[in-house]
Amino acid sequence: MHVRFRPKRRALPCFTLAAGGFLLAIARGPIVPRHAEAAEWSAAYIRALPDEAFAAIETARDRRRLRHLPHHGHTGALDPPHLRSALARWHQVKWGDPAAAAAARQHLEEHRAWLRSSQSPSTRGGN
Ligand SMILES: [Zn+2]
Repeated sequence: MHVRFRPKRRALPCFTLAAGGFLLAIARGPIVPRHAEAAEWSAAYIRALPDEAFAAIETARDRRRLRHLPHHGHTGALDPPHLRSALARWHQVKWGDPAAAAAARQHLEEHRAWLRSSQSPSTRGGN
């Protein structure tokens, strides 16, 4: 009986697996971003938002209504990237009333606490 020598072609499946894993890693990136950036809300979109979408509403001396730090979308749902943005920009707002500033901060912090408690550590993605 003659046994023919057959080289095993292991290189190809290994390479395919590695390439597949690599492609999977690439594919996962945009779907679950580590640090989700706030999708741009246009000025028109923000103008159309209801008052409830903002952290605070003040009245300027010229009686204009100033709506600060939008962080809920048009459906009323909390928008986590805009919540993070609102928290980061809170100190940049020219507050007319310190009480409004404090209330807005507390409102945003309560959202952040709720978000942290509702997300498991594996899906939080850092900090
Ligand atoms: Zn809110």
